[in-house]
Amino acid sequence: MIVLLFTIERAEALSTLEGYSGYGPEQGEKPLRTAIASTFYSGLGIEEDDIFVSDGAKCDISRLQMVFGANVTMAVQDPSYPAYVDSSVIMGQTGQFQKDIEKYGKIEYMRCTPENGFFPDLSKVSRTDIIFFCSPNNPTGSAATREQLTRLVQFARDNGSIIVYDSAYAMYMSDDNPRSIFEIPGAKEVALETSSFSKYAGFTGVRLGWTVVPKQLLYSDGFPVVKDFNRVVCTSFNGASNICQAGGRACLSPEGLKAMSEVIGFYKENTNIIMDTFNSLGFNVYGGKNAPYVWVHFPGQSSWDVFSEILEKTHVVTTPGSGFGPGGEGFVRVSAFGHRENVLEACRRFKQLYN
Ligand code: PLP
Repeated sequence: MIVLLFTIERAEALSTLEGYSGYGPEQGEKPLRTAIASTFYSGLGIEEDDIFVSDGAKCDISRLQMVFGANVTMAVQDPSYPAYVDSSVIMGQTGQFQKDIEKYGKIEYMRCTPENGFFPDLSKVSRTDIIFFCSPNNPTGSAATREQLTRLVQFARDNGSIIVYDSAYAMYMSDDNPRSIFEIPGAKEVALETSSFSKYAGFTGVRLGWTVVPKQLLYSDGFPVVKDFNRVVCTSFNGASNICQAGGRACLSPEGLKAMSEVIGFYKENTNIIMDTFNSLGFNVYGGKNAPYVWVHFPGQSSWDVFSEILEKTHVVTTPGSGFGPGGEGFVRVSAFGHRENVLEACRRFKQLYN
């Protein structure tokens, strides 16, 4: 409701001389940047001018690819949100693993499985220029601990890598794990962070997110990454819609924050229902606690076969794990983003199918 009021007020104001606003600021309106800094990064040394408001994390991931160019090497968690690999391939960071590294760059898959607690064995990961890392992770629902992220930051510092940290699900965190990479000392020199209102406020269609590029983050020649990102934002984006930004400010007001935490609480209840269902059926189930996704293991089976069987026999749509990378084979992701009655009905059908 509060979001509606703010956005209607802003939309109406656009028709007045005093309330009209046109281009800019491309980086986002100051009150929203300030509110993001104080809500999500309080005490972490992140300032309002480190924050770039955008039309969503996915769009920022592609803009970051434009900043880094085709000649970088990059690492991703395997499995992970497909936009990291796909945007890299679109940029031309393709080629055979290891073989064509000089010519094309390469993508290093950091395998994340139940055996390694969904955190990669960094001693086996090659040095890359960029490391995409998402916590809580889509699709596995796993969240990295403070100790694990400290190791990741140290790994990036030792190798001169830049971490692109995706915290799109940070508000779903129930454990005491970091909600932002900037909770880790020394991260501001090696990491930037992208995030979104999509999963907190249902803004998937409204489109609003942000990326934090600390001024301390420098290329190896000492040039600040933020200057390049600012250039790309001003050249190829022009900033998020002013009406959507009014919605974002409403989300970060006291009523908005309360409403977001209620929405998240509702989806967490859905997640528990799904977790309980698959646990009661004897499956090995991961995630769920810190993310709205349940990662269900079907050992020895193809993700697509499991997906098809569930679809054909129960008419419920899940997501085949292999769509998130080779490490997702043998899993399906079950999403908790749904109406309660639909989630309950889906779980009833899962019980019929697997009992
Ligand atoms: N990052 C992760 C990890 C996601 O799972 C998603 C959406 O599924 C996004 C980013 C996309 O966010 P946005 O809607 O802000 O583009």
